[in-house]
Amino acid sequence: MKAVLLTEHGGTDKLHYTTDFPIPTCGPGDILVRIKATSVNRADLVVRNGYPMLTIPMPHILGGDVVGEISEIGSVVKGFSIGDRVLTLPIVSCGECYLCTTKPDQNHLCLNWKYFGMHINGSYAEYCAVPAKNVVLLPESISYEDATAFGVAGLTAYHALYTVAKLEMGETFFIWGGSGGLGTIAVQLAKAAGAIVIATVGKDDKKETIKQLGADYVFNHYTEDIPTEVKKLFPYGIDCIMDYAGTATFPKSFEMLRKGGRMLLCGILTGRETTLSIHQTYLRHLSIHGLYLGTKRELEELLTLAAAKSIKPLIGRVMDLSQAAEAHELMVSGNYLGKIVLTVA
Ligand SMILES: [Zn+2]
Repeated sequence: MKAVLLTEHGGTDKLHYTTDFPIPTCGPGDILVRIKATSVNRADLVVRNGYPMLTIPMPHILGGDVVGEISEIGSVVKGFSIGDRVLTLPIVSCGECYLCTTKPDQNHLCLNWKYFGMHINGSYAEYCAVPAKNVVLLPESISYEDATAFGVAGLTAYHALYTVAKLEMGETFFIWGGSGGLGTIAVQLAKAAGAIVIATVGKDDKKETIKQLGADYVFNHYTEDIPTEVKKLFPYGIDCIMDYAGTATFPKSFEMLRKGGRMLLCGILTGRETTLSIHQTYLRHLSIHGLYLGTKRELEELLTLAAAKSIKPLIGRVMDLSQAAEAHELMVSGNYLGKIVLTVA
């Protein structure tokens, strides 16, 4: 089959496109998905580069968004048909650990979790075998390209805003970096909840697009003093802030939160450690939540919302699977909007 193989950790020169990799075996409880489209997520770059404690067998296949049609069904699997259009929950839970058994509806908390493209082979390929419990039917109205925005980025945004923060009508929501895959969905989800949305971008020419997606205010985080600008608009602070930038933005996020505000942490793009004022945290009744991905129920709810057309992913570029290295370089450059999609012809 076609696949992009990571042969060792490093730069984009370690990604090798092949048309001759073995099709994965479909186990009794699995579904074999003929992938039609996938997308590039920040996590793919992190895995490609490698980090301490990450040990994966090589060659490895990146990619967390498994989107396509069913080509084979395991012997004990029921409820699916060959040819069904599907999307896959990107996190595989063990079903046996303490949290899987005591909180079976919260599979993202599994102690032995595995993520497609990180701990197990992912979606930069023509086929991917996935546990049937992870498979969600894709509504006809959602294209394969659009669906790639929901598995990893969309699910994380939905889980953060709707389940964890419980964002309410009229509240203020702020996100650093509103123009990427996660940001463009988060802006739309926040707007759909009735929030006042403030987003940042790294280039001025992206501002208008993010406003069209629903942001009420858009700032350039490189050229504008964000906390000062936000304070002018909202002197009492922001109700809910989503921060996946990490060390560089955390102190500013902390400063901008209103009393009783919620912070949603879901990334470490600029670093993984910071300092925290315990004093300020309890005096200001702040809530700081860490999260990534979400549950199968949330993924289904997100697809229902999207099918109703209130959420439309912004697809910035569509490239062929064989251009995966170029797609990674594009993400690093920041010269794109929304999702970078890879299609598998
Ligand atoms: Zn588990």
